[in-house]
Amino acid sequence: MTEIIDGNAVASEIRDGLTGSIEALADAGARPGLATVLMGDDPASETYVNMKQRDCEEVGIESVHVDVDGDASPETLYDSIADLNDNPDVHGYIVQAPVPDHVDYRDVIRRVDPEKDVDGFHPENVGRLVAGDARFRPCTPHGIQKLLEATEVDTEGADVTIVGRSAIVGKPLANLLVQKADDGNATVTICHSRTEDLAAKTRQADVVVAAVGVPELIDGSMIDDGAVVIDVGVNRVDADTEKGYELVGDVEFETAAENADAITPVPGGVGPMTRAMLLYNTVKAASLQEGVPVDL
Ligand code: NDP
Repeated sequence: MTEIIDGNAVASEIRDGLTGSIEALADAGARPGLATVLMGDDPASETYVNMKQRDCEEVGIESVHVDVDGDASPETLYDSIADLNDNPDVHGYIVQAPVPDHVDYRDVIRRVDPEKDVDGFHPENVGRLVAGDARFRPCTPHGIQKLLEATEVDTEGADVTIVGRSAIVGKPLANLLVQKADDGNATVTICHSRTEDLAAKTRQADVVVAAVGVPELIDGSMIDDGAVVIDVGVNRVDADTEKGYELVGDVEFETAAENADAITPVPGGVGPMTRAMLLYNTVKAASLQEGVPVDL
């Protein structure tokens, strides 16, 4: 029987596990605060930001939202970032990607105070992660590690093939899984659009992680018997639904599930974990900044 990995359930456990720490911080006069910054009015980004705000409310994290006009200058966005860096009630914040074309996201990230960079994208935090001394693990890779742990997948000595080398998923995940650590010690192969014979690379893997952004690129023929499949992809494809589309992953679920031992669904797999780990990083940021140790 193939196990369908329930990301909603694991994320809910993680959120429940944070509430004690949030209350301990609040009792010490340091309720964690998360801000979201959205430049422009991309509907998908608005949805993501709303969900993050709602998540905060549910667990008792203070949340602040900053809207920046899509036509505003980069400096206007930088001013908002400077304000958040100076605001002691905001322990962490994220600038929702994508930003409009006239703004360079890398310039934005460099301006975020690394101690408040709960996405873990600032070069200082990337460097610390690679060095094995992460301050904030980026939310999606961290969420994937937690899903593997919840599925009792031992990564030690496992062959993991990651399809996708983005700075937010593929590369940090590879760095985390290869660390000499209990939740690392894997042998990692990273694939991308120039990889030759992708199927050979995925078939050799005990764990396949797909973070590509191409609907159903990976089918059952590319999955070894008994492998674990983590599908990060969220792709809108036209469908005869009320909204006119449906969400599918980077993996063809039906055929992959025939070979896999365990597989994440889309939606309900990695997505909820990404959101839960943002709350986790916010609690960690508050604890570090306020000097109040908590159990994480
Ligand atoms: P990017 O577009 O930044 O990166 C995609 C990667 O896939 C690139 O490395 C690209 O290669 C590679 N790629 C593209 N086509 C192929 C192909 N045919 N064969 C092999 N590799 C290919 O995407 P992200 O990492 O930001 O996101 C990936 C997916 O995950 C998206 O669907 C996104 O919506 C979703 N996502 C979901 C999250 C969640 O919480 N559930 C969080 C973040 C992302 P190259 O580098 O050569 O261009």
